[in-house]
Amino acid sequence: MPILLFASFEAVTGVPEWIGYLLSFVLGACIGSFLNVVIYRVPNERSLMTPSKCPNCDEGIKFYYNVPVLGWLILGGKCANCKEKIAWRYPAIEFLTGGVFVLVFWQIGLTVFLPVALVFASVMIALIFIDADHMILPNVITYPLFVLALIVRIALPMLPGHEMFSDTRIAPIVYLHTAGYPDWLVSLAAGLFGALIGAGSLWLVGAIWKMLRGVDAMGLGDVKLLLGIGAMLGWRLTILTIFLAAFTGAVAGIALVSRQKDRSLQTQIPFGIFLGIGSIAAMLFGDRMIAWYLAKFI
Ligand SMILES: [Zn+2]
Repeated sequence: MPILLFASFEAVTGVPEWIGYLLSFVLGACIGSFLNVVIYRVPNERSLMTPSKCPNCDEGIKFYYNVPVLGWLILGGKCANCKEKIAWRYPAIEFLTGGVFVLVFWQIGLTVFLPVALVFASVMIALIFIDADHMILPNVITYPLFVLALIVRIALPMLPGHEMFSDTRIAPIVYLHTAGYPDWLVSLAAGLFGALIGAGSLWLVGAIWKMLRGVDAMGLGDVKLLLGIGAMLGWRLTILTIFLAAFTGAVAGIALVSRQKDRSLQTQIPFGIFLGIGSIAAMLFGDRMIAWYLAKFI
């Protein structure tokens, strides 16, 4: 968890914890419904504001069928007008986003970082599916994520709770504290350092790979995405993200290549998928994973 403070929902509001989980799932499912629109329209540079239509008959979808997951179930997975099948991926993404929101709420609790973490996870879910569909990570998503991360870096230490990112307590950032710089500057410096480590290391791997093999191993989109991940999570969790992504990506890659007939290793794998999954895992469980690793092996 990139933030130092944890506050349970029940302790803050006096409302039972399970209601917090329920609200998280419902909110996540609604956001997932919006993410479906983002995933479908952003790569085609279409407006996010126009209402949803059936792609087959162009009939507008009634608002009461837009209820996440349930709307699809009530319709039996078919358009109310023309009975064309609606892909099960739409309710699946709504359900997945609800589940991820529950995980985020469980780990982050009711802190000022909760909305940031929910936005971060939502952005990653959108990018995972856009990369899977189109092999791109649109700049209109990756750049704003970086800007958001920098704003959060500056704003969080200024808020009344005076919360700090966990990486500001780790060398080589910690000497900025002792030098007497204001907390927001330490926080921002840590974010920029994370962005540099994340984007820099991935760019370096790509450059070396290109030198050795003469092919572009990864797109610049992955490097741009790591600016945002690095600034938000800090250098340690970002390195963990890259490791998790490389490991899961390699496993998926081997599985994919072994199923192919012509075993050429040139199969392109959208690395953004694994960076997205890895960064959510690192945000929620990374500090504990690293502590466990250091205690066990060093
Ligand atoms: Zn239709």
